Amino acid sequence: MALIEHGPLRGRDIKLSFEFFPPKSPDMEGQLWSCIEELASWNPEFVSVTYGAGGTTREPTLATVKRLISDTRLPTAAHLTCVGASRDEVRRVVDEFKAVGVRHFVALRGDPQDGVGAAYTPHPEGFTNAADLALGLREMGDFEVSVSAYPEKHPESADIQADIEMLKRKVDNGATRALTQFFFDNMAFVRYLEKVRAAGITIPIVPGIMPILNLAQLKRFAGACGATVPSVLDARFAGLEDDPRKRAEVAAEIASEQIIDLAQKGVDEFHIYTMNRSPLVNATLEKIGLRRDAERMAGAA
Ligand code: FAD
Repeated sequence: MALIEHGPLRGRDIKLSFEFFPPKSPDMEGQLWSCIEELASWNPEFVSVTYGAGGTTREPTLATVKRLISDTRLPTAAHLTCVGASRDEVRRVVDEFKAVGVRHFVALRGDPQDGVGAAYTPHPEGFTNAADLALGLREMGDFEVSVSAYPEKHPESADIQADIEMLKRKVDNGATRALTQFFFDNMAFVRYLEKVRAAGITIPIVPGIMPILNLAQLKRFAGACGATVPSVLDARFAGLEDDPRKRAEVAAEIASEQIIDLAQKGVDEFHIYTMNRSPLVNATLEKIGLRRDAERMAGAA
């Protein structure tokens, strides 16, 4: 829990989680660890480390979660996908994560190996989807299992109802929390949440918040994820192409406004896509008036 000390949410407690990706070079590794150190003092409930597309970054994900568990006090979740792997291969990976102390997985199907937009074919001896993987994890140990959710629908889903049915199967198979794809239209999230609750799903649906480091890049990425980037955001960044300082200020305003509005609508948990960079996340959380907890700095175990 983290307490909001000032601003419109003063006196509210919120829960935060931060998502990181495994570094691909020594430089990126340095950036990741300074980011973790910076963000630890916001007192997150947990942090998570993504798993590479097509299962390609098992080693760096493992190394990152291992160090998070040994060198920090941050509860750590490992993302895990089942794309392109047999059940036995996935089980071996789970055993490796378990051996370094992982007790929380973010269980995902993963994108098709031929890239987003291609047809997904499960491995002939593999888990068929994230619901099947959640069940496999439950059978392998007493793990906490988080899963994905898509307020604007997963690009492969026929409609939002098909998405919600898949979420229900994941919950029936042991998932206790859903982390959403990022979105910018809070009403889309509210409408989605109403449908999820109407379907009898009671687990926390935690909105994924993406502070905007680069609007053009985000648009390209969002298209593939099925997330909408409203044109009002173009207007907010218009004319700031040569002013990185002002762009960062606007990005923090947008993310903090989104969190404040969601909190005013009753949401109290937020999953932040950090992109392994702390300044924008710090600026966002400062703007919502959150209190830092110096005791929780990474390395202060
Ligand atoms: P599922 O929950 O199994 O399916 C998603 C939706 O697609 C379902 O609702 C279902 O209706 C529909 N669907 C699934 N299969 C089919 C099908 N064959 N035909 C029609 N509809 C279908 N990817 C990574 O590679 N590594 C990560 O670490 C990672 N982390 C993520 C974290 C979060 C919070 C989120 C939201 C996504 C993440 N992803 C990650 C992306 C994810 O792997 C992709 O979105 C992938 O395409 C779907 O995986 P899933 O677990 O959401 O799938």
